[in-house]
Amino acid sequence: MTDLPIVPHWIDGAPYTSADDRTADVYDPALGTVTKKVVLAGQREIEAAVASAKAAQHAWGDLSLARRRAVMFRFRELLEARKPELAEIITAEHGKVLSDALGEISRGQEVVEFACGMDEHLKGEYSEQVSTGVDVYSTRQPLGVVGIISPFNFPAMVPAWFFPIAIAAGNAVVLKPSEKDPSASIWVAELWKEAGLPDGIFTVLNGDKEAVDGLLSHPDVAAISFVGSTPIARYVYEQGAKYGKRVQALGGAKNHMLVLPDADLDLTADAAINAGFGSAGERCMAVSVVVAVEPVADPLIEKIVERMHTLKVGDGRRGCDMGPLVTLEHRDKVASYIDVAIDDGATVVVDGRQVQADGAPSGFWLGPTLIDAVPTTSRVYTEEIFGPVLATVRVETFEEGVELINAGAFGNGTAIFTNDGGAARRFQREIQVGMVGINVPIPVPVSTFSFGGWKASMFGDTKAHGAEGVKFFTQLKAITSRWLDPSHGGINLGFPQND
Ligand code: NAD
Repeated sequence: MTDLPIVPHWIDGAPYTSADDRTADVYDPALGTVTKKVVLAGQREIEAAVASAKAAQHAWGDLSLARRRAVMFRFRELLEARKPELAEIITAEHGKVLSDALGEISRGQEVVEFACGMDEHLKGEYSEQVSTGVDVYSTRQPLGVVGIISPFNFPAMVPAWFFPIAIAAGNAVVLKPSEKDPSASIWVAELWKEAGLPDGIFTVLNGDKEAVDGLLSHPDVAAISFVGSTPIARYVYEQGAKYGKRVQALGGAKNHMLVLPDADLDLTADAAINAGFGSAGERCMAVSVVVAVEPVADPLIEKIVERMHTLKVGDGRRGCDMGPLVTLEHRDKVASYIDVAIDDGATVVVDGRQVQADGAPSGFWLGPTLIDAVPTTSRVYTEEIFGPVLATVRVETFEEGVELINAGAFGNGTAIFTNDGGAARRFQREIQVGMVGINVPIPVPVSTFSFGGWKASMFGDTKAHGAEGVKFFTQLKAITSRWLDPSHGGINLGFPQND
């Protein structure tokens, strides 16, 4: 059917393809060419994936914590030793520069390390003598088969927010990665096998909407962890609930950075550049709006522009600062917002369409773009652009800035830049956003805390990793026990009371 390499599924501990599979193109965005084809699951593959996971899960969940822990540690050691291989795979399909790809792997590895200590997190509680001769205790048990559906922008880190905890807690995982960059998940599956994870506990089901719908409606899938855009997150949450599943669905973002007049402007300009243009702005925690409290806007913009001119855009394998966008379609969509800005009366200070990239002319390039004085009614302000387009909005007071941020539909991340501790504390308390940075532009919590936004950035009540992750991937059981004591015999049909 094609001479290009095929990215298969990974089912029952081995690559899995069928002769009549549908496929999708996988691009190298820096070359602008199709380099692989990925198989897209239909009903048969969905059934095979879930059946294999279900068959393997009981024995894995029944294995001692010590043995499960040994597999987790082996996986962590292999990942630590071999992550440069994974970074190359990510760069070749996503486009982000190699150092950034390594960075996302390291953040995913933190969750693996958290899950190596799962014994501690699974400890239950015990109350002795709650009634005469009666003790109550709780345990956390696995859910069974759980589904993870991930976006294109972090092909290693986002799945790793979930699968280490799910697996260490005794579940079997079926991962449906983005069809745009599916190879990282297959590499991870091979690593699990090498680490000694039994076949069927980590499955990769490649595919599109059909695979997602198959997991959402499958009676043997107990829970779904989803990360992606807000409309799909909402859909997954609603469908999952309809089929009686536990669902956490993390959606899109529009993150603001509030800059007070007393901020260190060099530090702030560096932060705006790093958070605005890192990974070509294709991060759910990217800063896309700088809210400058006057009179700070002009001097800050000057410093941001100076730095923008030093950024090297090009092939992520060539030591550049910023790579291409993930597909041509996405590149064109992001670029179209520059025209929207002009139509809406904003000022395009730096136009990324004129970029000279260090890479193939056919790559999906768009350079860093800065748009000043963006009206808050413009789609440039209200919509998630998900590219290297930074908007600035000018306000007169701290209060006006907070009000603006709180009025937004999303609530993923935000940051304040100031040297005033009192203002920072007030911001932290009043802002309606799930993750807050104080002089930190990309406030992604460490793995012992939990990741997740508010409002349209997250559907469901349990966030990713940390204690919330353990809670999501386990079900609590309470046991009330009384060992034989002849003094408590006798018939009593009344509701049990404690004495
Ligand atoms: P996307 O919503 O297009 O895709 C996410 C997943 O859903 C993919 O696996 C895809 O195959 C699947 N999917 C796509 N369309 C579907 C449909 N109609 N029905 C069922 N499934 C469908 O997102 P993306 O473009 O891959 O990723 C970028 C988005 O993800 C951005 O909005 C970004 O903000 C968001 N994101 C959020 C977080 C977070 O933590 N909140 C983290 C990373 C990315």
